Amino acid sequence: MMRRSLALLLSLALSFPVHGYDLPDLGDVAASELSPAAERRIGEQIISQIRWRDAAYLDDLELEEYIGRVGHRLAAVSNNPSLDFDFFVVNDPTLNAFALPGGFIGVHTGLLLAAQTESEFASVLGHEIAHVTQRHIAQIVGKQSQSAMLMIASLLVAVLAARSNSDVSQAAIAAGQAGAIQSQLGYTRAFEREADRTGLETLEGAGFDVRGMPGFFERLQRATRMYENNAPAYLRTHPLTTERIADMENRVASMRYRQVVDSPDFLFARAKLRANSDQPAEAVKAMENQVAQAPDDRAAAYGLARALFRAGRFDEASQRLSALRGKSSPSPWVETLAAEIALARKDGAAAVRTLETATRSFPSSRSLVYALADARILAGEPGAAVEGVRSVLSGRQSDPRLWQLLSRGYAALGKRTAQHRAQAEVYLLRGSLPAAVEQLEIARKAGDGDFFDLSAVDARLRELKQRLIEQRRERYE
Ligand SMILES: [Zn+2]
Repeated sequence: MMRRSLALLLSLALSFPVHGYDLPDLGDVAASELSPAAERRIGEQIISQIRWRDAAYLDDLELEEYIGRVGHRLAAVSNNPSLDFDFFVVNDPTLNAFALPGGFIGVHTGLLLAAQTESEFASVLGHEIAHVTQRHIAQIVGKQSQSAMLMIASLLVAVLAARSNSDVSQAAIAAGQAGAIQSQLGYTRAFEREADRTGLETLEGAGFDVRGMPGFFERLQRATRMYENNAPAYLRTHPLTTERIADMENRVASMRYRQVVDSPDFLFARAKLRANSDQPAEAVKAMENQVAQAPDDRAAAYGLARALFRAGRFDEASQRLSALRGKSSPSPWVETLAAEIALARKDGAAAVRTLETATRSFPSSRSLVYALADARILAGEPGAAVEGVRSVLSGRQSDPRLWQLLSRGYAALGKRTAQHRAQAEVYLLRGSLPAAVEQLEIARKAGDGDFFDLSAVDARLRELKQRLIEQRRERYE
């Protein structure tokens, strides 16, 4: 039965229009446990498909950066701080978070909204991080045969393709099958207990309130009882038992009590999500209610300004923001919104000024640097945009957003060789090797590159063509 559905899945996966997506290269999988390098490779392939094809992937660097800050703060005090972690946001109201192979952790927006404190939110991340550091995924995947792994990988791709596809029936089939596989890949009770225990230690080490963990999991369990067959997705892959909660409570009782205040970022991130949900007019009403209940709440005021902005009420949004900027210390969330409003009003120069000041106040904020590059391109200052992107590129070569900004900047400057050279990296990072090769070929023929540009393009082209040949050979062997 299971084998038949797997065969169906494989054919389903392969029948999707293939615009050059690549199945993971699993390398040597003879070992009983997946090697960290192979695990990371699988994760990278899956995440590139998610970024490229999954309509639910939330391309919001501000939110991603916040979740990453919490995640990295936890990972740094975990029992394997040298592992790579990447956090991303999925626009989905259900309560869920999941770890892909290789330390890629996805967080549903519903989870962030359901957490009542930042420590509660961090407790779920800590649990997921523990599944990665304890190598649970590698142990589960390592038990599958290579062909089963390939099927799982193609299935994941099929599900992702179907999610962004309008064909609902295919999507439903793929999603149903995914459930079957997912439960097969579900963590065992022993793994769950271990993830709770190490997750709790990590939570304490990172300075969060450890009571957040039993508190949040207990609420999850209560929600499960209420919905019977519609349990939060999280609990289906992480089966929760009364013993687990009792265990957590016992451990927490012996830990030192600590009062922890939520960071402003936690409050701003939730306000942004609320302001961006529902229809704009409804979001405005909801945020107005919140402001009426807590007139001094900066995050609520920001949320109202954002909802007004979404509803096209730029003047009112600006007034709200000015009031907020006048009476409190600067916030990158507020400055980013001010720049967005300026851009919507076609005042690119004002957006650039706002973001230049903000990047000086918050030099470590990546989303501000990217927003500034975007504003500079829109304001007709592509030279400064390219310069700004290049100054941070060396540390972030694997970020497709940065390469996309670079490509847009060069396009605005009329530098076609450089534009297509950068666009090739965008496609490569989104998992489409043939499209990357095509861009490099366009770059070669663009005719405006100097000797050094062209040598660089040629070198990259040779490298990627070789990779393409190897990939095709592997597929047909
Ligand atoms: Zn778990």
